[in-house]
Amino acid sequence: MKVLVCNAGSTSLKCKLYDMPGDTVLAQCGIERVGSENDALFHYRNNLTGKRKELSGLSMPDYKAGVRLFLDTLTGADTKEPVRTPEEGGSADGLSVLHSVSEVERVGFKTTLSKGHFGVHELNEETLQGMRDWYALTPVHTKAYLSAIEVLRAFLPDALFVGVFETGFHETIPLERRLFGVPYEWHEKYGLMRLGYHGASHGYIADVLNEKGRHYRAISCHLGGSGSVCAIKDGKSIDVSFGMSLESGLIHNNRVGDIDGSIWDFLRGEGLSEEEIRDGFRKKGGLLGISGVSNDLRYVIAAADQGNERARLAVDVYVSGIVHYIGAFYPDLGGLDYLVFTAGIGEHSDRIRAMVCERLAALGVKLDPEKNRNASGEAEISAPDSKVRVFVIPTDEELGIARRTYAFDRRK
Ligand code: ADP
Repeated sequence: MKVLVCNAGSTSLKCKLYDMPGDTVLAQCGIERVGSENDALFHYRNNLTGKRKELSGLSMPDYKAGVRLFLDTLTGADTKEPVRTPEEGGSADGLSVLHSVSEVERVGFKTTLSKGHFGVHELNEETLQGMRDWYALTPVHTKAYLSAIEVLRAFLPDALFVGVFETGFHETIPLERRLFGVPYEWHEKYGLMRLGYHGASHGYIADVLNEKGRHYRAISCHLGGSGSVCAIKDGKSIDVSFGMSLESGLIHNNRVGDIDGSIWDFLRGEGLSEEEIRDGFRKKGGLLGISGVSNDLRYVIAAADQGNERARLAVDVYVSGIVHYIGAFYPDLGGLDYLVFTAGIGEHSDRIRAMVCERLAALGVKLDPEKNRNASGEAEISAPDSKVRVFVIPTDEELGIARRTYAFDRRK
């Protein structure tokens, strides 16, 4: 079965075409700077032949032009040459992998959330309405997905559209760790509770750990543009640092993390407008807000190394948040077998991994400095006498989505 997986950002769209089962990526594409009049980028790769197509300086007012380009490249409709399938010995142009877009049976999306729907669901009028109902919690992401879904639906009217909601993996967190201390009726009436995100990534890490044995206690640190820490017991999420919206938990690249509810009113009293406060929480907070340097941790670390005090503080606040959640989850897990670092920062910053692990010495965590420094791809980086095995595991959210989209039973 051909399964297309889509990961939509506010100005980007990444797609991968899988042949399932078997986890084979046939082709993939990235469209960047969507919304630009003459500066958008398109890159495509046929994973079977390795042949690439890269275009820049494109006019791409919305996703539509990019999706059309991708589908035309997938089917060879952008060339005059006859197209052959891989079974027939590879496509004539080296780029296309399909005869027709109708071969795509399912499309899976890394959707954020939909009121009343957690886990994996068909994207129909009901789930789309749920996305609109809870729009205020993840406006940027939901907006991107609603428009990507609409565009792809027009091109692929017969495919089954599946939303693998980012909140899904966390359904197993017990209610006592999900409820906020607000009037219970708010939970019943408005659904207020900790939902958690990064489900595709933490779920993928659980898939990898499950292969080491069924019973384990793990903490997965997804540290990317946004970050979260998730406690996983025997393959299931039992706690997560995210709350109900994306402005919670760890500090993120430019978004606030945990914040106390009355600060909004307090700042209004100090004369800030609603918009200024919202911007501070959603765009000008996090690493950027504290450091005043950048929302990219690489630049913040570089500035800290040159003596910038606020940058140093931002790095310390970031690390403290990670350590705080690991410490909070440890007793409920009943110990720790595996500590995993993943996503952009988790996979590439040996510095952050070392800073976190150094502060976990009381839990018996001990890194092998050389393994940590040289880690590339999946790697174990703990010292032989560490009580906790520490891993770097590159996340593969798209594969997690492809598997769940393929396995989805629409009759349930
Ligand atoms: P996103 O979360 O935006 O989908 P990633 O998981 O790829 O994307 O994470 C991107 C983040 O990773 C960027 O903010 C970048 O600063 C950070 N990053 C990547 N490599 C490093 C590194 N070597 N050191 C510190 N931060 C890094």
